Amino acid sequence: MSVFTDPDFDGHEQVVHCHERASGLHAIIAIHSTRLGPALGGIRMYPYADEAGALNDALRLARGMSYKSALAGLPLGGGKSVILGDPRRDKTPALLHAMGEAIERLGGRYVGAEDSGTAVADLQLMAQTTAHVTGLQDKPGLDGGVRSGDPSPATALGVFTGIRAAVRHRFGREDLAGLRVAIQGVGSVGHRLAQLLHAAGATLFVSDVWAPNLERAVQEFGAEPVAPDRIHAAPVDVYAPCALGAVLDDVTIPQLRAAIVAGAANNQLAQARHGEALRARGVLYAPDYAINAGGIIDVCAERLGEDAAGVRARVERIGATLTAIFEQAESEGLPTQLVADRLAERRLYG
Ligand code: NAD
Repeated sequence: MSVFTDPDFDGHEQVVHCHERASGLHAIIAIHSTRLGPALGGIRMYPYADEAGALNDALRLARGMSYKSALAGLPLGGGKSVILGDPRRDKTPALLHAMGEAIERLGGRYVGAEDSGTAVADLQLMAQTTAHVTGLQDKPGLDGGVRSGDPSPATALGVFTGIRAAVRHRFGREDLAGLRVAIQGVGSVGHRLAQLLHAAGATLFVSDVWAPNLERAVQEFGAEPVAPDRIHAAPVDVYAPCALGAVLDDVTIPQLRAAIVAGAANNQLAQARHGEALRARGVLYAPDYAINAGGIIDVCAERLGEDAAGVRARVERIGATLTAIFEQAESEGLPTQLVADRLAERRLYG
């Protein structure tokens, strides 16, 4: 296992292996870039099969954060950390304190946030030993209530804004009344997205493997339930993946009936070449890291001291970013995610 020869090594500035004997901490912190600001990214805890898998995840995800923040115009770099261990079994206050100390030693070059396997309560423990974790504070939510940590409302608003931009580009229409949208996964983001679309008059098709979430969407929005393995092929205008990654592949793309794919899930393309497969099939794809940037915008606001109105304004700019991507991709005959990468790289590398 080597950093420099890992397929996902991309000129990362710094990769740190962290160990603390007493708590049993084994972690890797990957800083892809600090050119635009401190490298912000989630702290993931996962029972990786081996160290190579953990390193690969950290490198890939850190680079992804650089691109996401750069494209969203945020004063942030990209980083990610992974704790090797089972969050249900191995997570102790001592381990979280040790992780905080490891982050603190980087002096603010890396800033950690919640990710899969870690929760706001874990970050609050880390915050006892480092100043460089974020997403902890109670703050006014986009809906006017008070909330802490959870960036899902901002992510859902960003996806909604992105769907509007895609509909405007593809169908030349502003209103969403009667638009048919299939949402794959009605969890934190998918449910809120369904709320926004329902209020705008869209007709919803939903799938979820967790029956209570599915039933909630059916009851609240009159959504039509679809089997999880058929939702991508539903007879709709927009397919919104909001559950898993790698849902656009050699099997699903030929079965799509939607003219637009626009959803919150990370890493929706199974492989980069599937961006071209979508373009060739005439499907307008909203690049995932462009449309789902609402969450990082929200987390960043805590650092910038921005209020809910500031967050909303930034999140709504996702629509303009996507429109620029769609127009350039169309005029150059390129897949949209390639154009998004180029825009992000221009900001990252000048
Ligand atoms: P969540 O866990 O709250 O919701 C996911 C939902 O998908 C759950 O209801 C789950 O039961 C369902 N699901 C799982 N497998 C499924 C399948 N095969 N078919 C249909 N449904 C399935 O997660 P979330 O926070 O809503 O995030 C959804 C996606 O968006 C994830 O890919 C996440 O990485 C991405 N994302 C989330 C945010 C955020 O702010 N939460 C930000 C950026 C990206």
